[in-house]
Amino acid sequence: MGKQIYEEVEERMNPREMYLQQLEQAVPYLTVEPEYLEMLRYPKEVLELSIPVRLDGGGVKIFSAWRSHHNNALGPYKGGVRYHVEVSRDEVVALSSWMTIKCAIAGLPYGGGKGGVSVDVRELSRNELENLSRAYAFGISRFVGTDYDIPAPDVYTNPQVMAWFLDTFEKVKGWSEPSAFTGKPVVMGGSLGRSDSTGKGGIFILREALKAMGLLGKPLTVGIQGYGNVGSRAHRFVEEDLGLTVVAVCDSGAAVYNPAGLKYSEVGKFKEETRSLKGFSGGEEFFPDLIFEKEMDILILAALGGAIDEKNAGAVRAKVILELANGPITPEGEAILADRGVLIVPDVLANAGGVIVSCFEWIQGRSGDMWSEEYVFSKLDERMVRSFREIWSIRQDRKISFRQAAYVKAVSRIVDAMRFRGIWP
Ligand code: GLU
Repeated sequence: MGKQIYEEVEERMNPREMYLQQLEQAVPYLTVEPEYLEMLRYPKEVLELSIPVRLDGGGVKIFSAWRSHHNNALGPYKGGVRYHVEVSRDEVVALSSWMTIKCAIAGLPYGGGKGGVSVDVRELSRNELENLSRAYAFGISRFVGTDYDIPAPDVYTNPQVMAWFLDTFEKVKGWSEPSAFTGKPVVMGGSLGRSDSTGKGGIFILREALKAMGLLGKPLTVGIQGYGNVGSRAHRFVEEDLGLTVVAVCDSGAAVYNPAGLKYSEVGKFKEETRSLKGFSGGEEFFPDLIFEKEMDILILAALGGAIDEKNAGAVRAKVILELANGPITPEGEAILADRGVLIVPDVLANAGGVIVSCFEWIQGRSGDMWSEEYVFSKLDERMVRSFREIWSIRQDRKISFRQAAYVKAVSRIVDAMRFRGIWP
């Protein structure tokens, strides 16, 4: 068993290599100087930390952690912090590069950053998690700030972790600076709607994609891979906002299929109570890796990177894939899907709802204002629709993939700013 897991990790495509290939695929359609493209292939700076954490039972464990600053031509670095055992320097750098692209597409005044700690949070007590989070925040405190780099939640981090980050940071600095972190609890200056924002934004984009394909309003079926914050919300909004039927869901430990439909009110409640999908009785249970083979029209990827590669792409039955995770399809996997005419709505567009509402939170923190949830979602909708239309039209005009179009849009905008700035020092 242990060996099997190890081999799987070894075989997973390096995320940095994935980003570089995706960037390369847009190059023939870009009119930009090679030196700027070359700069986009590297992070500007990466902080590497070894964090000692005192464990409840005595002893100390050292955790490897990073914060990557990829590019800040458009504004301060922005991006989440991921807690996961498989986090590596290359993954954090790739994720920060995707943030640069994502923020540019969404028209935000941000560059790209990302942080990560190699840790299995399920093995830590709440006290150990707090110690780790505070030690990480202390370590990056000279590397972040409202106008420098603004961290936020990502996989296995949440508003509580952001609260520990901000509290530590403010104590180090000696002043209040709420906009140095986003995704905070609402009572500490978080934005209404932030927790729902990635799922909500993704469903706005799915609605636009279906509209553009003439499929909106048709009785389509949906499968969701990943049932954390993003996947579970996607389930809710795909049902509530679009009236579609979810037939398959999975998390890392279990999967359920029911062609007659799985209701969010039941699955979401079960997952919240038991923290797993294992044992949910509303459908046939199956092995999570086999979710791609189930009959469905739309597949939502809301788990981790590299979920679909050249080995399993052929099994995918869906005609539309919405990437709510970061980097869930490798370039080899994408080539196979593209040959079969599957529409892939890329991560850098589809999952931008989180960072967009983070930006709203940053604005509210700087102005002392507080927006209603309704206002947050209407502004989010407007922004997602605008980005969708811009990229869809590039895709149609140039006859390129949705991802290539997204990169064309993003890189052009970033390089415009890089030209004005020049290369200095
Ligand atoms: N972690 C999210 C992402 O990958 C949100 C980042 C943010 O809010 O800064 O887009």
